[in-house]
Amino acid sequence: MTTAPPPLPHRRAGGLSLPVVSLGLWQNFGEARPYAQQREVVLHAVERGVVHLDLANNYGPPPFAAEETVGRLLATGLRGHRDELVLTTKAGYRAWPGPYGEHGSAKYLRASLDESLRRLGVDAVDVFYSHRYDPTTPLEETIGALGAAVRAGKAVHVGISSYSADRTREALDVAARLGVRLAVHQPAYSILNRWVETPGADGRSLLDVAGDAGMAVVAFSPLAQGMLTPRYLDGVPADSRAARGGPLRPEWLTPEVLDHVRALDGVARAGGRTLPQLALAWVLRDPRVTSVLVGARTVEQLDDNLAAATAAPLDDDEVAAVDAHAVD
Ligand code: NDP
Repeated sequence: MTTAPPPLPHRRAGGLSLPVVSLGLWQNFGEARPYAQQREVVLHAVERGVVHLDLANNYGPPPFAAEETVGRLLATGLRGHRDELVLTTKAGYRAWPGPYGEHGSAKYLRASLDESLRRLGVDAVDVFYSHRYDPTTPLEETIGALGAAVRAGKAVHVGISSYSADRTREALDVAARLGVRLAVHQPAYSILNRWVETPGADGRSLLDVAGDAGMAVVAFSPLAQGMLTPRYLDGVPADSRAARGGPLRPEWLTPEVLDHVRALDGVARAGGRTLPQLALAWVLRDPRVTSVLVGARTVEQLDDNLAAATAAPLDDDEVAAVDAHAVD
């Protein structure tokens, strides 16, 4: 007899309630993977309670493909479940040619969101993000465009991604002036990438700024794109992200990094965890982190990662042992 897995805990912030482990569709939900495999992972995720699916206009690869996958699923296997899901999308990176095909202009954000809604086949997303800070567009315009999306009923909440601590403070000030609520920040955060802990100009880190403002914090690439798993300890597997010429560059897998990863694998095993579970529990040790976004390619990877949601939190010795091997 198999017993049902425990329900996924949620954390609340910014007006959102999110499962502590969420699914991101950046790399494994486009034309490079069989649709049947993508469908299996997404449906399994939702069945396990991973109701937060993170998208962007450029996810796939190629761009637009991941939104098309989810649109297809919403019309088939997920039909009738739209309201249970937290669907997010973003605009900021290159989507089409020309100055209005990337960055943070009102024209681009508005057109991109309309296209995302069309691909998804929904009236609104739950969160629409400015995907990156744009130094060429005034923040008033970018944040104003996010507010317009909410007023038009095309986004329930809005957020920002990868804005530094200082830019986030500025964005929050602008948002307050414009009457826009920035519900969520989505930064990279992992044992191998701790930039969110670095103090900004006023001495506060991004985690401090977002936490003080009551924003949800959704951490992306918590497994450092797979580096914080046993995937690369014996070379580069042919089906891995690093082998595909994607955003994980094989040259990042230096002997020094792999030595740290091997040591972290030892810390994980000593605590009765897998390395991905240790890496996720480590990001979740900070209560200001609302959810970690994993990019699982298979059901097995997803289930491994989901065990971190219900495992015991890291104890002080484990945190200290991780700190000893956290390179940045
Ligand atoms: P991860 O750090 O979780 O890396 C995912 C990769 O790690 C998988 O493709 C897989 O590699 C490997 N992996 C995952 N789980 C396991 C496991 N249990 N055992 C072994 N290997 C495993 O996340 P991503 O880098 O994919 O980012 C997650 C999400 O964050 C994205 O999908 C996206 O939604 C968001 N994101 C947001 C960004 C932004 O600018 N806002 C930027 C980047 C990501 P393999 O495929 O090689 O098996």
